[in-house]
Formats: sequence, C-alpha cells, structure tokens
Amino acid sequence: MNSSTTPAPVSSAPIRVRIAPSPTGDPHVGTAYIGLINFIYARQRGGQFVLRIEDTDRARFVATSEQMIFDALRWLGLSWDEGPDVGGPYGPYRQSERTEIYREHAEILLANGTAYRCFCTAEDLEAARKHQMAAKLPPRYPGTCRNLTPDQIAENLAAEKPFVIRMAVPTEGETTFRDELRGEITFSHNNVDDQVLMKSDGFPTYHLANVVDDYLMRITDVIRAEEWISSTPKHVLLYQAFGWPQPRFWHMPLLRNIDKSKISKRKNPVSLVYYRQAGFLPQAIINFLGLMGGGMPSPTPVEIVNGAKETEVFSLEEMVQRFEVPNIRLGGPVFDLTKLKWLNSEYLRALPPDTFFAALRETVLSDQYLRDVATLVQSRIETLGEFGNLTAFFFQDNVLPPPEVWVPKKRTPEETLLFAAEQLALLETTDWTTEAIEPALKQLGETHSWSVKENFMLLRAILTGSTMSPPLLESMVVFGKARTLDRLRRFLDTQKKLAANKK
Ligand code: GLU
Repeated sequence: MNSSTTPAPVSSAPIRVRIAPSPTGDPHVGTAYIGLINFIYARQRGGQFVLRIEDTDRARFVATSEQMIFDALRWLGLSWDEGPDVGGPYGPYRQSERTEIYREHAEILLANGTAYRCFCTAEDLEAARKHQMAAKLPPRYPGTCRNLTPDQIAENLAAEKPFVIRMAVPTEGETTFRDELRGEITFSHNNVDDQVLMKSDGFPTYHLANVVDDYLMRITDVIRAEEWISSTPKHVLLYQAFGWPQPRFWHMPLLRNIDKSKISKRKNPVSLVYYRQAGFLPQAIINFLGLMGGGMPSPTPVEIVNGAKETEVFSLEEMVQRFEVPNIRLGGPVFDLTKLKWLNSEYLRALPPDTFFAALRETVLSDQYLRDVATLVQSRIETLGEFGNLTAFFFQDNVLPPPEVWVPKKRTPEETLLFAAEQLALLETTDWTTEAIEPALKQLGETHSWSVKENFMLLRAILTGSTMSPPLLESMVVFGKARTLDRLRRFLDTQKKLAANKK
C-alpha cells in the first residue's frame, strides 16, 4: 500500500448519504443531529438518505436499541429512503447480515498484500505494550506478523491458531484527505496503527465494514461527527487498497456541554427517549439541533425589507429550503438545555389548545401511562381523590428530597452519595425489568454492605422524594429507564452543587 497525498477523485454520482448508528443503548441526540444534517443534505439535492445499522460490536450490542433508533428518528420526522426496515437496492442494511461480504473483502486485501494475518496472542500484545510504555513510545502494534513467510502462515493455520486480519499501513509517508468543512488534513503514518480489520470471531471491525458498505451502498458523502476524523486516514488507505474512489468527507463539530466538554450524559440528558418521555416536542428538538453550527442563514436585506425577521425558530421544511451544510461553523456548538426548554415552550405556546391537550395525552398523560400508574396504587388507595397525592412524583419534572428523607439513619450523607452513584452506574447497564433490577441491586448492596432496606429506601427517596411510595421496582419500570436515570443524575448533581456551595 503506497502513501498518497492526492485524494482520489470524488464521484459526481447522484447524492447518497447515510447515518450508521450502532445499536448499543438508547438513541443519542448526536445521532439525531448528524441524521438531521444528512437528511437536509439529501433532500436539498434530490438524493437518497440511507439508514445502516452498524451492529458488529457484539460485546456492546443491545437488542432493544435498533427499534428505539427507528422510533426516535421517525418521531423527529427524519425518514429514510433505504434501511433495514424499509429495504432498498443495496441491502441488507444491517451489518450483522453482511459478514460474508466483509470476509470476501478481507480476502481481497490479503491477496493484494495490503493486509495480513496476525497470530499474536493477547499476552504477546500486552508484553509489547508494556515494553513500549517503558520505552515511552506510543502504544502500537509492533509489526510482529507483518512479514511472516507463507510457510509460517500455513503452519499457524494448520495448527488452528486464532488470528485477526490487520491492515498493513505504510511504515513511512503520510495520508492526506480533504474534509469539506476544514480543507486538507494530513496524518503521518507514524500515527496510524496497523488497524485490525477482521476480529478472530469472524466479525469485521468498524473500519472495514464501514468502508466496504459505504462503497457498496454507493455513498457519495460521508457526513459524520468530528470524532471520526482520526479514523479517516485508515479509511482513505482502505479505499486505496481496494482501488475504489473515495466519498467526500464532512466532519460535523461535536455537540458540547455548557462547559465545552464533549456532550455527555453526566451533564445533559443525551437519550432521545428521555426527551420524548419528558415531553419535548419533536419540532423543538429538530429546530434546536438545526441551530447547532449555524447552518441557517440570516434573512437577506431584501427579505428583511419584505418583513422577514431574524429568528431562531424554524421548521424542518424551512431548514430543507435554506440550511447550508457547507456554511456550518466549526467550533463547538453548545447543547444548552435552557435554550432547548425555551424553544420547546415557544412551540407549546403556539399550539391550539386542543393540540396542546392532545400532546399531553400522547405523552405524560397517555392512557397507557395513566393505566400503569393506576395499577400501582389501586391496592393502596382509600378514595379516588387520593390518586394525586400517591402518584405526584410520576407527573413531576423533578423531586428534591431533603437529607432527612434520603440519608439512612446510620449513614453519613457522603457515604450515601457514594452509594447512590454506584446505584446509578449499575442501573445504567441493567435491563429495565423488575426481574433484572432486583437481583442486580441486591448484589450491589451486598458488595457494599448496604442492607436491602437502606438500599431500596435510598432509591425510593431519590425517585419519589418520599419514604413512602407505591412498590419501588414497579414504579421505576413504569417511570421508565431514561427518566429514572435522569432523576438519579440530577439528584447527584444537585447534591454536589449544594456541597460545593457550603465550602
Ligand atoms: N457506527 C458509527 C457510529 O456509531 C458510524 C460512524 C460513521 O458514520 O462512520 O457513529
């Protein structure tokens, strides 16, 4: 594989773009943001918008995630032209159904010498890493298997030694590619590791599958988040290794927390499921995401003379008419929840009363939700009139229990907060059923010497704001994972701020 400083010509074929989310959990606001930009770009150019599910990382795979991604994107109005559920001429659109294709393509690279089999064991790699650390070298594959002779390879294969397939990145030179928003970007090959392309379990890594699919699905423009820039030289080398033309690359600035760090669930809810359940309108979220990066132009002087106002409020249709992807500003767009709430309130206020009521009935007062909540209190209620008192926490945006409610008798606030943080970390990765939550919580309590009573009381206090409530686990399930975790995070955050203010 030779280095190159001239990017391959980009095709002028009909525009085809894609988003390629990995089903590893709740659908992320970042997926909606990148989805929106791709959607607008395709709609403006009469192109096709493809949804591909990148589910080759089996360790992080979450079975319910794919459907949640479909539901969230549809809710936002970002419909796709081709995808796992709607089909299309270049399917299958789920990578786990394409493993044979990746295997065949890895064979092509092995045959033309741009990839090689690596038989190193985990111990070999660990030893090399330690050695490099001691010598203060950056950790990278030391190239042990790069030059095995055909006989050595045959011997290893005959001995059925497990292997991965690695890319033979040129040892010298550099790779340059054009980013449509940034211009040319160059990476020295010293900084590009011999990337694993096929794992020993026969599944491809992201890099191989992504490039093969983008090519086979005729993608003309790869519009994705900035965090993939460092992967792009590997992708460019792969296009060259296959002898394929490259797509255009657009790396969108990352969404940021208010403090400018990369958006994270510690500082902002990031699950689209949360926003839907908490009663944000899809139009408001789409509008808000469209404000990120400044792709919406201000009205021209002529438009202003004709009465157009500078506005931050615009619909998806208006964005399709006016948004300019090439004008996106770099620098971190801030995901400011206060601003999103303001926008949401603008949309809510503008709804006709009947539509407003209908919106409530579809979300926080849906039949299903009311029925689930009612079921939890039926056996505890003396008059129907008490319904509100018993269930208020299900309908509040947040609850703020005082310390006498959340600190168990024999514990200090500090140790209680530490344990609450453990509960949060555990629940983040727990299936949202009482059967899964109960043993997981009990196990956590045992590990940290917290009694079942203290353990459950603490969660009850954080979730409901009180020491008395309908059954805890069932309440958590009805309230939903996204909102329960949000309540826990907000509780911890509030306590942290209160403690900091005291100092
Ligand atoms: N599967 C990657 C993700 O989860 C796709 C990145 C890309 O668009 O190339 O975001």
